[in-house]
Amino acid sequence: MANVSLRHVSKTFKSGVTAVRDCTVEANDGEFLVVAGPSGCGKSTLLRIIAGLETPDEGEIYIADTMVNLLSPQERDVAMVLPNHALYPELSVRENMAFSLKMHRIPEEEVERHVQETAEILKMETLLDRKPSTLTTSQQQLVALARAMVRGRKVLLLDEPFANLDRKLRAQMWKELRALHKRLGLTVLYATENQEEAMALGNRLVVMKEGFVQQVGTPEELYHSPVNQFVAGFLGDPPMNAINVKVGDGGADYTFAFGKNTVRMPKEWDKLGALQEYLGKNVILGIRPQDVHDDPALVETLPNGMVDAEVEVMEPVGREFYLYLTCSGHSVTASVDADAMRQSGEQIKVAFDMEKIYLFDGDTEHTIWR
Ligand code: ADP
Ligand code: MG
Repeated sequence: MANVSLRHVSKTFKSGVTAVRDCTVEANDGEFLVVAGPSGCGKSTLLRIIAGLETPDEGEIYIADTMVNLLSPQERDVAMVLPNHALYPELSVRENMAFSLKMHRIPEEEVERHVQETAEILKMETLLDRKPSTLTTSQQQLVALARAMVRGRKVLLLDEPFANLDRKLRAQMWKELRALHKRLGLTVLYATENQEEAMALGNRLVVMKEGFVQQVGTPEELYHSPVNQFVAGFLGDPPMNAINVKVGDGGADYTFAFGKNTVRMPKEWDKLGALQEYLGKNVILGIRPQDVHDDPALVETLPNGMVDAEVEVMEPVGREFYLYLTCSGHSVTASVDADAMRQSGEQIKVAFDMEKIYLFDGDTEHTIWR
């Protein structure tokens, strides 16, 4: 077993900054757990606490069901790859990988065996005798990974290891890492601020904000059932639109008014009656850009979500277009096909697919309805 468990862990630095607040997180044996959230939310501190590079003020850390709070980094059975982990430039890849093993006075033959095995697993035998300066960025990243893994540890901590790679290389490294994870049955904790990376890699995600864990779950769970506006906005690209609306009583419908626009949804959709107490109040209506439609034929079929909009810009992104709109003074992004080319300043009708909206409490930002 190589599960990793944090229980009520907190860390405040001498500067007074609290980086991690009462975090309880469990990575199961063999799981790929992604710790995700914007820069400064406490991801690195969390991983460094597991590795033993920071001491928590409160809480317990368990690795393989053993409490490790009092163990040194060397005594914990984890390998960590730090961001921009520098390789020793004057040493070959082989020597870079062997370095820490030699430091631990492991016999020469054993070092050589570990290096060879790790190189085979990572399919990088051909790089062993090269100097880091002759390698591409992604190869250097692979060596940093190899150097961390060479001691055959079952828990791997990765702190934004591919942040410096371009998108294409990064996607390639994701594939390699996933294959590696599967082949070796490693328990991986991987920190990233990139939501695409988080969704692509994680069996489960831990989304953090300001030191607090917001939600833990599979990418699908978090994407479709976020507990609050922060998690909803963090996952998805372009981010979910958030519009401040006033809840009204439209008979059989709840109405949501913003400026001159009003959208509506049948009251019967709100099975738990959560919206009743929000009548006359303001809430945040969330709608993903993929669920805002501009195709006139489709707009006709969604009268409850019809909205007047002015086109700001239409921007090609890959195979689709992002349509940046203003609706009653609110910026709204739609992700659309290129069927109709829109001009800046054009007045159009778009439709929110009301079955896809989210409603968040205006004060707490907690999800009210989904
Ligand atoms: P992330 O990795 O998510 O960007 P960090 O864990 O690095 O976040 O940082 C969380 C917060 O703690 C930030 O406000 C950061 O400035 C602060 N912090 C991190 N390391 C230290 C440190 N050694 N001393 C003081 N403050 C720190
Ligand atoms: Mg960090």
